[in-house]
Amino acid sequence: MDEGWVSEIINELGENRDAYLNAVTPPVFQTSNFSFHSVEDFRSALRDETSTFLYSRGNNPTLNILSKKLAALDHAEESLVVNSGAGAIFIAVLANIKSGDHIISVENPYTWARKMFENVLPRFNVSTTFVDGRDVKNIEEAIRDNTSLIYLESPNSWTFYLQDLEAVAQIAQSRNIITICDNSYATPLYQRPIDLGIDIAIQSATKYLNGHSDVVAGVISGKREMIKKIFNSEYLNLGIGTTPFNAWLILRGLRTLPVRLERISKTTDAVVKFLKEQPEVESISFPMDSDFEQADLAKKQMTGGCGLFSFILRVAHVEDVEKFCQAMKHVLMAVSWGGYESLIMPAVAGMEKGEFDYKNPTHRRIRFYTGLEEAGYIIEDLQRGFEAVRVKNC
Ligand SMILES: *Cc1c(COP(=O)(O)O)cnc(C)c1O
Repeated sequence: MDEGWVSEIINELGENRDAYLNAVTPPVFQTSNFSFHSVEDFRSALRDETSTFLYSRGNNPTLNILSKKLAALDHAEESLVVNSGAGAIFIAVLANIKSGDHIISVENPYTWARKMFENVLPRFNVSTTFVDGRDVKNIEEAIRDNTSLIYLESPNSWTFYLQDLEAVAQIAQSRNIITICDNSYATPLYQRPIDLGIDIAIQSATKYLNGHSDVVAGVISGKREMIKKIFNSEYLNLGIGTTPFNAWLILRGLRTLPVRLERISKTTDAVVKFLKEQPEVESISFPMDSDFEQADLAKKQMTGGCGLFSFILRVAHVEDVEKFCQAMKHVLMAVSWGGYESLIMPAVAGMEKGEFDYKNPTHRRIRFYTGLEEAGYIIEDLQRGFEAVRVKNC
């Protein structure tokens, strides 16, 4: 990939150093309010808030520097930065549906996307059909006359299943259906849904964009008209914009996004190679692995994979899974991913112990996130996990 365009966006775009005493780093504009010298200027700001500083629930200079960069990275016209990835999903969907509409979503989308489809939207007479998005036909066949939205997540952050984004976008465009893709996994450095014809790209900025496990935020990118529509309604109504300080932290995180992803990609390759050699690893799901079931599609629409993948442990008891995870000294057991620290999350943490059935491989699934540590440091820690399980078995 030509990296020059990324450097210019990350280091320069949206910044106006002359306006803040040539400070290299922009200030945190920690202000709720902006004043006017003339009634005419005030009137024009009140008439249309989209391109002016009036009140920080709308535009704020620190947020705007960030949103310009994020839009450019996504190859989108505009972006909004909000308080969480879940919030980004919620307002992007809400802005594009009305009572009586039907949504098609990929199976097992991010938890809070699923809960919105299952628990919130039915109260407003909006129904959702979940389909296996690995086959575009399943999406096409689920389309009804009242389908207004197709919701995608590629790759999925648990199963790592992909959808052919270009093919889905073509089908949707021919039927006037809006497409949304959660692109948290790949980031615009490794996949740009908008270039493939998707209308709205979403990311949890909590993950790679900020990258330091100290901010929860989300981003929505799309055409100017679409972003303006969301800004003037859901964004301002919910007051969902991120804070100036969080925007400033994400700006700081963004400066190192390319180097972090490059490092994590290399380390992940080493960790995956190690795992594939372990007898206790039944299988691995990692889109960039040549054995991955959709490896060809991954190669076609993504230029990189990064740190998140899952593997199935070959063990018989829930206690073995627990031992494996608890034996590690450095890798932390936690939700989320995309930060500096390696993380492990067993599927059994999300279910009652008594429900464990070793015959179901998904119960033995471990989600792993490779952070910024050295490969040897992570592999040594994983070895502790395997040893804990091996001692038990002999
Ligand atoms: C974490 C995550 C989200 C939600 O983002 P938050 O910032 O935690 O609200 C959405 N989609 C995916 C794939 C995620 O991993």
